[in-house]
Amino acid sequence: MTATTESTEPLIDELQQWLSSEWDPELTVGAWWERLGLAGWSAPSLPPNAYGKGVTRNDGIKIAQAIAAFGALGAPAGLGLLLAAPTIATHGTQEQIDRYVRDIVTGRQSWCQLFSEPSAGSDLAGLQTRAVKDGDEWIVNGQKVWTSGGQRADMGMLLARTDPGVPKHQGITYFAFAMVQPGVEVRPLREMTGRALFNEVFLTDARVPDDAVIGGINHGWAAANTTLANERAGLGSGGGSGAGGLAIPGTVGGDLDRRAGDFVGAPRSGGSKGSGGAKSDGEATMLQAMSGGAGLLIDQAKRNGKNTDPLVRQDLARLYTWTELGRFNGLRLKAVKSGGGDIPGMPNISKLSMSHIMRLSRDVGLGIVGASGMLHSYDSAGRGTVTAVTGNPLLPVVTEMALLAQAPPIYGGTDQIQRNIIGERVLGLPKEPNSDRTTPFSELPRNA
Ligand SMILES: Cc1cc2nc3c(=O)[nH]c(=O)nc-3n(C[C@H](O)[C@H](O)[C@H](O)COP(=O)(O)OP(=O)(O)OC[C@H]3O[C@@H](n4cnc5c(N)ncnc54)[C@H](O)[C@@H]3O)c2cc1C
Repeated sequence: MTATTESTEPLIDELQQWLSSEWDPELTVGAWWERLGLAGWSAPSLPPNAYGKGVTRNDGIKIAQAIAAFGALGAPAGLGLLLAAPTIATHGTQEQIDRYVRDIVTGRQSWCQLFSEPSAGSDLAGLQTRAVKDGDEWIVNGQKVWTSGGQRADMGMLLARTDPGVPKHQGITYFAFAMVQPGVEVRPLREMTGRALFNEVFLTDARVPDDAVIGGINHGWAAANTTLANERAGLGSGGGSGAGGLAIPGTVGGDLDRRAGDFVGAPRSGGSKGSGGAKSDGEATMLQAMSGGAGLLIDQAKRNGKNTDPLVRQDLARLYTWTELGRFNGLRLKAVKSGGGDIPGMPNISKLSMSHIMRLSRDVGLGIVGASGMLHSYDSAGRGTVTAVTGNPLLPVVTEMALLAQAPPIYGGTDQIQRNIIGERVLGLPKEPNSDRTTPFSELPRNA
């Protein structure tokens, strides 16, 4: 459908006019994303020299929603759009922006985030993957873990240690790293949801060219912080940009040559690790369910008569209150920012609040559906069976929410780390004593 509606916002009017002349469901996904990305509508919050329009994050979300409302396929969601593009736009050269960001906004390449390691998660700067210079290339050895989408990524945001002789934050370099090459082994890890969303990635004499260093040799920590700030901002805002479409960007996903119109109307796959990268289709479902606040669970409670139970009513009221507080905080931040100010710690508070809401939804939801909550299905055929047997079409959403609720308090910085940041940087509490920032990495004590 291609109906246009009047908008008071000139940018949305401009977008709708553009969509009226450019959207064609018969185009391939790749051809459509080429149009969308080069016109600046895929990642409008990037600056104009990085294939964007320099609009605010909120306006970017409105644009994505307007594309979905128009009935066109949304931007190529994923960690490329959410994390790599803004990082390269900030720290990369114009040549790197043209080499990497162009392929992100046009969906030609998909990205994963090669940050965490088996002994470097919260303590990310303790990472041990090494990159050693070899002519005009670097040779990379090490192991990454928790790599979401690594199995279908063309490129990775790689953090590697390039100088162990300096304090740990100072000897890290950020690379744009080709995933499809000898020396890169991606092993999927199956989760309790039944999916294999993330992976272990083993790097053995893998190579990356010198001109793929983003932000300078040994200056990777600054670039990594830009990636993490974008991750938290995306997660804290609850994720979804609202654009529709299940098409997977990149050469490995296999969707680029398919008909764009076939993906319209399907639920979105990539929201948060935000707009550009919910961690899974299931999580997108959960985020969509959550965006309706407590509504889904109130319907469930009405359905099986639990809406008269005073304890359930109390829990639902609590859930409703938390989601409304989150919304009001978002509005408050927006108002303060529009006046040039900021509310320190708000991304951390928003992320903590989102994690809490998800845990609360898990507990309230399972309480409402009762014993049938044990009937989780791991594929669409199974979901059909569960729905038929229980007569409850929303049961799979409730159980999916329950299983996925464990993830947000961990990814993008755990709840404890968010609290540490609020304590130290917002409330001014004293930092834990350590010599990490002055002792060379090679001299720090390590587990055997
Ligand atoms: C679904 C999902 C997807 C992910 N995707 C990616 C990805 O794509 N790429 C990527 O690089 N990583 C990814 N991660 C990894 C994520 O960033 C890490 O799991 C996270 O940073 C925590 O690190 P860790 O698992 O090593 O736990 P640890 O850092 O070992 O923490 C273990 C526990 O100790 C606590 N703790 C640690 N340090 C402190 C401290 N100083 N003060 C108080 N408590 C502390 C933590 O809060 C936690 O409870 C993903 C994780 C999940 C769950």
